[in-house]
Amino acid sequence: MHKITLIPGDGIGPSIVESAREVIRASGVEVEWDVQPAGEAALKEKGSPLPETTLDSIRNNRVALKGPCTTPTGRGFRSVNVAMRKEFDLFANVRPAKSLEGVSSRFQDVDLVTIRENTEGLYSSMEHWVGSGYHAAAMAIGVNTRPNMERICRFAFDYARREGRRKVTAVHKANILKILSGLFLEVAREVAKDYPDIEFEDRIVDAMAMHLVMRPEDYDVLVSTNLFGDIISDQAAGLVGGLGVAPGANIGEEVAIFEAIHGTAPDIAGKDLANPVSILLASVMMLHHIGETEAGDRIEKAVHAVLKDGKRVTRDLNPQGVGTEEMSRAVVEAL
Ligand code: NAD
Repeated sequence: MHKITLIPGDGIGPSIVESAREVIRASGVEVEWDVQPAGEAALKEKGSPLPETTLDSIRNNRVALKGPCTTPTGRGFRSVNVAMRKEFDLFANVRPAKSLEGVSSRFQDVDLVTIRENTEGLYSSMEHWVGSGYHAAAMAIGVNTRPNMERICRFAFDYARREGRRKVTAVHKANILKILSGLFLEVAREVAKDYPDIEFEDRIVDAMAMHLVMRPEDYDVLVSTNLFGDIISDQAAGLVGGLGVAPGANIGEEVAIFEAIHGTAPDIAGKDLANPVSILLASVMMLHHIGETEAGDRIEKAVHAVLKDGKRVTRDLNPQGVGTEEMSRAVVEAL
């Protein structure tokens, strides 16, 4: 029996998380879910968007499955996701982007994974106003440290080895940010020497963006610092059909949190319209992480079969399609 923290989140979160729960139950994997609130739901229920009880549950169980949580733009509370990353030092954001039969997109043979350093770079939260006069000038400080650059590069190479992948591409801007991005590239080159079985190359981020929309099939594992990794991973999701079908995970030394990468979709919340594929594929990643590889593979195959068939899928994929609940039932039957 696995004990896992389950965070339904806000908007469409509860409905897609229920879908994941149903499909995992049908796979035969025994899970004791510890359901905990986060986001707006938690603010209403417990007076905090990320209550201590939720953090304690994740700390104890070390694995969580999470629906999207509301973050108001430019006001209100800090992003729950950012707070969790900080709290548990979830340094690696892992975002597979794989073409899915039945999901329309510009490419058919994409199969790449972006590994993004989650804790440093230009997202170090050191921003301030400078100069005299109102908002005269703005400054942000980026910080990359050698230990964390090494940790993310080793993570990428270990991931490549474990998953039977052939190549790691380091994405940087060391030609201009010679120090901040230069350190990342220097460390990536050093680490690559310890993995002679994995091909290594580097790409400047702007060229990478272009290559990705021209020949995405050339890439396998991408590793990058925080800001570039953030952008490139969403670009990669766009290559395979968008945020509704791509999963993600935030991994630390102790804790791993698996999530749907889209937001709370307030425009369709409560209407049984949410596509559950992102959270289902995140569940597959989670099952692999906890050693339930065979069940994870079966769920992945079932999701692929339902998508390929294309009839009992949500309406974002097929206007004549079905609701979230019915699509989940189709996946359970395919299992
Ligand atoms: P969003 O991803 O919620 O929605 C963008 C568009 O995609 C909407 O039209 C929505 O209906 C659609 N969409 C998203 N997921 C879908 C799904 N599974 N099935 C079908 N359609 C789907 O992005 P947004 O509108 O920018 O953000 C809304 C809220 O979500 C904000 O509060 C934001 O902060 C939050 N958010 C949370 C997370 C997270 O917790 N991981 C991530 C992104 C955004």
